[in-house]
Amino acid sequence: MEKKAYLPIAAAALAAAVFAAGCTRASAPRRLQWPVMGTIAALSFRGEAEDRDEVREVVAGVYDELNEKLSAWDADSELSRFALLHTNDLSSVSPRARPCYEAAFRLADETGGAFNPRLGATLRELGFTRVSDVDLGAIAKGFAVDVACDELMRAGYAARKPDGALLVDLGGNLRSVCGQWRTGVRNPFAAVDDDLPAHAAVIVLADGEAVATSGNYERFVERDGHRISHILDGRTGEPVEGMAGVTVLAPTAMMADGLSTALFVLGPEAGMKFLSRHHPGTAALWIPDTPSNPRIIATPEMRARLLNPEYPVETAK
Ligand code: ADP
Ligand code: MG
Repeated sequence: MEKKAYLPIAAAALAAAVFAAGCTRASAPRRLQWPVMGTIAALSFRGEAEDRDEVREVVAGVYDELNEKLSAWDADSELSRFALLHTNDLSSVSPRARPCYEAAFRLADETGGAFNPRLGATLRELGFTRVSDVDLGAIAKGFAVDVACDELMRAGYAARKPDGALLVDLGGNLRSVCGQWRTGVRNPFAAVDDDLPAHAAVIVLADGEAVATSGNYERFVERDGHRISHILDGRTGEPVEGMAGVTVLAPTAMMADGLSTALFVLGPEAGMKFLSRHHPGTAALWIPDTPSNPRIIATPEMRARLLNPEYPVETAK
């Protein structure tokens, strides 16, 4: 029988190590975290933050609402019901969730199908739990982070917090609501070797900016002792091999999330062509799955942002 080997949820919490940076009150950030959407949600606060529970309630409310709509595990979700219609017509979809579908279908077009929101059935055949044939897992967490940040902005959070800072993290999809944040790019090789440094590099997130990482080391199934990645090439349905991790900076968490999955599939060469055509100026990095020869391949924009890289950095061409 096939063996499923999902790593414990705690592994996801390591996706983002956060350090205090550029802070007027150089105190260690305070963190709240809870499980949701099959991963870990976290909030990091700096400065005065006596309203932490209030903020958490707003953010958790958004995640619960969107999880209900966008879950590929729940046969009754809006997503699963949309999948049964076999259409790209979004009129059955709630206005709240629609931007997530639109972005996913746009990325599918731009990548010539390498990014594919219709891999639910293929994932199921490979042994991953999916009920819906449409699966927005590559972009939904980033989308949820953006909606949560928007709600906080609407509530005037940033304006009320001139010297505070807040970072929202959902399973490695991070966005700064306010303030600069030093974030660690998870070292994919540290997942299998504890002796290796936890971070491949450090990036300082600007106010409002987002970063996302896609990796092959957190979610997978095992078949005949072989790990099957949860990221597939949308054109062939085959699990992607040869890539360990991809990190992308973007103005929104949804784009960082979607692009990190798309670039994981495309790799650096095709990925650079895709970026220059559709998303020029994007800061992205690839870490090939070569533990004996670890290296970071970065776009020039990402190269300029990397601090303390643990491995040699090459510029993507
Ligand atoms: P994570 O879910 O670990 O944060 P990603 O954001 O990279 O990682 O999303 C991976 C998820 O996206 C998979 O678990 C699957 O549900 C879905 N997926 C896998 N391959 C593709 C693809 N080529 N295009 C779109 N979605 C994909
Ligand atoms: Mg993604």
